[in-house]
Amino acid sequence: MIKYNLECSCGEKFESWFQSSNEYDKLSKKNLISCYACGSTKDVKKSLMAPNVAMSKNTVVKDNDQKKEFYTNVKKKLKDLREYVEKNAEYVGDKFVSEVRSIHYDNKKKRSIYGTASLKETKELTDEGIEVATIPWIPKEDS
Ligand SMILES: [Zn+2]
Repeated sequence: MIKYNLECSCGEKFESWFQSSNEYDKLSKKNLISCYACGSTKDVKKSLMAPNVAMSKNTVVKDNDQKKEFYTNVKKKLKDLREYVEKNAEYVGDKFVSEVRSIHYDNKKKRSIYGTASLKETKELTDEGIEVATIPWIPKEDS
C-alpha cells in the first residue's frame, strides 16, 4: 500500500491509499480517482511534495561563535588553496591573459599559471573555451 497526497482542481487536498504506484497511474490515466469534495474525477492529481529547503531556520548559523568558526574554516581553506596554487603554478601577474591564451593555443608548453585578470577578461577567456578559475585570494598575513 502506498499513500499519496492528492489535489483536485477545486482546491481540495486529501490523502488516498493505493495498492501500488502502478495502480495509481492506471486509475489516474482512466480518470477513476474522484475528489471526495466535489466528486470530480477529471483533475485529481498527485500533489507535489514540498521539498526540504536547505537553509531552513534550523540550519542558519545561530550565534557568533558558530559564525566565527565558519569564517575561520573558510579562511583556512582559502589559505590552503593559495598555498597549493603557489606551489603548483607559476605566477605571471598581469600577463595572465596573454600567457593563458598562448598556452591554450599551444604556442607554449602546457603549464599551470596564475595571475590577475579583470572580470571582463575572464569572461572573454571562458567564451573562447579556455578554462579559468577565479578564486578568492586572501593575504597571507592574517590579522
Ligand atoms: Zn474537487
